[in-house]
Amino acid sequence: MNELPALGLYIHIPFCERKCPYCDFNTYAGLESRFQDLVAALAGEMARWREPLRGRTVSTIFIGGGTPTVLEEAQLAQIFAAVDANFQLAADCEITCEANPGTVDQAKFATLRRLGVNRLSMGVQSFQPQELAFLGRIHDVADVHNAFAAARAAGFDNINLDFIFGLPHQAPDDWENTLDQALQLAPEHLSLYSLIVEPDTPLYHWVQRGQVETPDDDLAADLYELAISRLAGAGYLQYEVSNWARGDGGSETPAYACRHNLIYWRNDDYLGVGPGAHSHLHTPLQQSGASERRWGNRKPVPGYIKRIREGEPVEEFDEEIEPRLAMGETMMLGLRLLREGVPRGRFAARHGRAVDDVFAEELRQLAERNLLTWDEHRVRLTPEGLLLGNRVFGAFLPD
Ligand code: SF4
Repeated sequence: MNELPALGLYIHIPFCERKCPYCDFNTYAGLESRFQDLVAALAGEMARWREPLRGRTVSTIFIGGGTPTVLEEAQLAQIFAAVDANFQLAADCEITCEANPGTVDQAKFATLRRLGVNRLSMGVQSFQPQELAFLGRIHDVADVHNAFAAARAAGFDNINLDFIFGLPHQAPDDWENTLDQALQLAPEHLSLYSLIVEPDTPLYHWVQRGQVETPDDDLAADLYELAISRLAGAGYLQYEVSNWARGDGGSETPAYACRHNLIYWRNDDYLGVGPGAHSHLHTPLQQSGASERRWGNRKPVPGYIKRIREGEPVEEFDEEIEPRLAMGETMMLGLRLLREGVPRGRFAARHGRAVDDVFAEELRQLAERNLLTWDEHRVRLTPEGLLLGNRVFGAFLPD
């Protein structure tokens, strides 16, 4: 029998100290009274997967949210105890925890280290005080420096910093200054995202009412290009549309690439637990024998906790993915990996067909427009394709 491939485990903590006005993640402020119940429910959901996923090794864990670092030490320990009780972890398992610079100190970092966390992802967003205020963040610039120093002192040697660009009227000089300050810290990894006005967020309503200007796509594109050149000059490899890491320039994926997110981009398997978490498995579940499935949990926290307690399913949707859609998703996700792209061998092994057979016409048209390129090993975006990414990715999805 073939060994089943490893999978990633995502654990969603749906709590924040305060909700940022641009954020549409499934996370809530003011639910401190439910922290303990949620932790117990997460343990309950993990226990449900013990038997169906027996024999699978977990190669990465990502504890995200929300703000996992709002939890107490004992609650974090309970989550790790549930992981250990229900899953078999790879010896070199990458274990990432998101951390908000306003909710951490050296003791919290020491706890995370002791529990096995070996990678941190900090939501910094900006080094400009007025931008942090606009984004409604609970931390200031000094908090970031203190948190970063405390993380290093606690022994973290693999740290990602998240930033947001493309704020209305953002000055390129301010963005460059933010990048410079980030580079002075020398993190192993950087994630840069443009500000998106998500429906039904406070930011959306401010824009609707004319209180805030719509972010300008051209400005965002200029700031993105500025970041690409600035980070390349500092020795960071852009291995994904929004992600840069330090590491060997000769390899497809730098040493400090986020291995958990690579699972998503490679269209591999992951299990998500917690309210609103999504999962994707393409190898047969021992129980159901299903071929390729994706499902998502219900979002509201109280309902999730109640259903776990009562032994009820927590899935809000559950769908089988047809082979044509699965192949399109492998292209759409894999092309985000700028260096690795979609390896021909992996595509064929995953789908049982050659990428040129399935997508001959799409590849030809996109190459004619200089948006895609390929060789005998892989299909990749060109620099022109990178700037029009979503248009390229969409070409592979069925109508
Ligand atoms: S801290 Fe992060 S997850 Fe929480 S509301 Fe702000 S952006 Fe959303």
